Amino acid sequence: MKDKFFYECIDCGKIYESSQITYLCTDCEKQNDENNPPKGVLKTIYDYKELNSRYKKNIFDQLVKSGFLDLLPLKTLGSLPFLKVGNTPLYKVSSIDDNNFDFELYLKDDSQNPTFSFKDRASAVVSAFAKENNIDTIVAASTGNAGSSLAGMCAAQKQKAIIFVPAAAPKAKLTQIMMYGAQIVPIDGTYDNAFDMSIEATKKYGWYNRNTAFNPLTIEGKKTVSFELFSQLNQNLPDRIFVPVGDGVIISGVYKGFEDLFNLGIIDKIPVIIAVQAIGSSNIIENMNRDKFISTPSKTIADSISVDIPRNFRMAKKYIKENFGETILVSDEEIIAASKVLSSRTGIFAEPAASAAFAGFLSYYWDGKFNKGSKNVVLLTGSGLKDLNAVQRIIDIPSPVKPDIFEIGKFLNK
Ligand SMILES: [Zn+2]
Repeated sequence: MKDKFFYECIDCGKIYESSQITYLCTDCEKQNDENNPPKGVLKTIYDYKELNSRYKKNIFDQLVKSGFLDLLPLKTLGSLPFLKVGNTPLYKVSSIDDNNFDFELYLKDDSQNPTFSFKDRASAVVSAFAKENNIDTIVAASTGNAGSSLAGMCAAQKQKAIIFVPAAAPKAKLTQIMMYGAQIVPIDGTYDNAFDMSIEATKKYGWYNRNTAFNPLTIEGKKTVSFELFSQLNQNLPDRIFVPVGDGVIISGVYKGFEDLFNLGIIDKIPVIIAVQAIGSSNIIENMNRDKFISTPSKTIADSISVDIPRNFRMAKKYIKENFGETILVSDEEIIAASKVLSSRTGIFAEPAASAAFAGFLSYYWDGKFNKGSKNVVLLTGSGLKDLNAVQRIIDIPSPVKPDIFEIGKFLNK
């Protein structure tokens, strides 16, 4: 039987059969060094023509019915973890202040995944692929979410996970990784150091590596959010989608999902995607128009998108440029303020990276950029409980009150 998918190098265009390669294009990889985003990330390509002729009509409905198996790098959906990954809620919100919107705002709440972040979409596919290929140890470098996600998926699938994290990752994420029974390797350094170490260790010990973009299947897992959005909007495209950006893999995944639908003739355009980065970690946006990549050390409260060398810079840049995507930078203060607005006005408590996307939305909103009747989506990628420290600076937990109704009265009137 012919392979279901093949890979194409986004830099040199070389084609690889799916059984031929696991990570980066072997030609382009030779040019990589530690100061630049890697070349040779692979895009997974399916036989769209064959799918089209097989399905004939109502392709999308049939894809939904089959759980999109034809657009996943897997043999069967039965290889996926039994936990419910994806199919997260899409909430329509009509206002965040005293005025009702004259456009539509949808919040895609991916904190509702099993380990409370978007990363489960990628971890589930990587874990399933490992299962189908009899691989039992998976390694990942992570700022915290990808690691806790892989650890959780591996726990569900009885696989071994080894997670390289910067030692300064939020406690909740480190705790989660350890509770899932994964082996943790806290690196005295940045996420970028953890990333490089995990790859060296992968080569030395022969493990399977989940690193974002380095493993092309991570993009395939992440793209599923676009299928869901299209389905949840009754097969309509959103006009704008706000996506938090660090490594550039989530945004590439969102584009890839719509690109698959475009290649099948299901949609006739790609929505406008807004890449939102923190001012303190803006290595994708700042380098969009430079000939030579310059990395600025990242420092932001949004740890999940704090990255010095964005691992999928090249693919993300290409997608954004080719599809007229937009970019916006938000400050840490704006992120924290957005987090408060989101929590107090909608009941969704999101982590700083996700709040960054919402801060991007708020900036557009206050500038009056949304057309009447337009559909706008904010991708909320992780739960606020994963990083309580980040927001504790803006709240002041009151001192205890004596259990006495008179004292309570005094307290309430303060
Ligand atoms: Zn190549």
